[in-house]
Amino acid sequence: MALLPITLIGDKILKRKANPVKEVDIKTVELIRDMFETMRNANGIGLAANQVGSDKAIIVIDISVIDGHEDSKPMVIINPKITYRSEKKVFIEEGCLSIPDIRAEVERPAEITIVYHDTDLKEITLDAKDILARVIQHEYDHLQGILFTDLISDEMKKKFKKDLIKIKQRKVEFQYPVTSHIDYQMQL
Ligand code: ZN
Repeated sequence: MALLPITLIGDKILKRKANPVKEVDIKTVELIRDMFETMRNANGIGLAANQVGSDKAIIVIDISVIDGHEDSKPMVIINPKITYRSEKKVFIEEGCLSIPDIRAEVERPAEITIVYHDTDLKEITLDAKDILARVIQHEYDHLQGILFTDLISDEMKKKFKKDLIKIKQRKVEFQYPVTSHIDYQMQL
């Protein structure tokens, strides 16, 4: 197991669409383990593979740290597709390990249906609502190259502009390992 450095807003891989997983080989299993370790170390409840520098369509989620969700099991979501989005939308505050210390209310569908593969590449259909629907949609967006800051109003974007530049320049204190600026701008 290993802690992986988390990519930050500005890293180009966060703007790229993920590629489907065709085989869950030993490297994929290791990646998934490392994603869980990296997420938990950073006190996150969801993580997409491009947040640790991989282009694979993989999400890990564990919302059991949230009050009232202690019984929920850790989830590995591979090759997801959202097949239903409720008309009803809700505002919920979001944060992101790739955009530390920035939080904003984001409007998204309240309920979704997702079709994905588990680690045996078996197809699963899941209806999700409340916080789980929210986390899945946030992470699903990562696999499309979309960050929550892409979804907020221009006014909010303006408000965060200086802070985002500081993150991109690594001029804030990070509570967990992050990528170096140069690596991810130059090589990816
Ligand atoms: Zn995120």
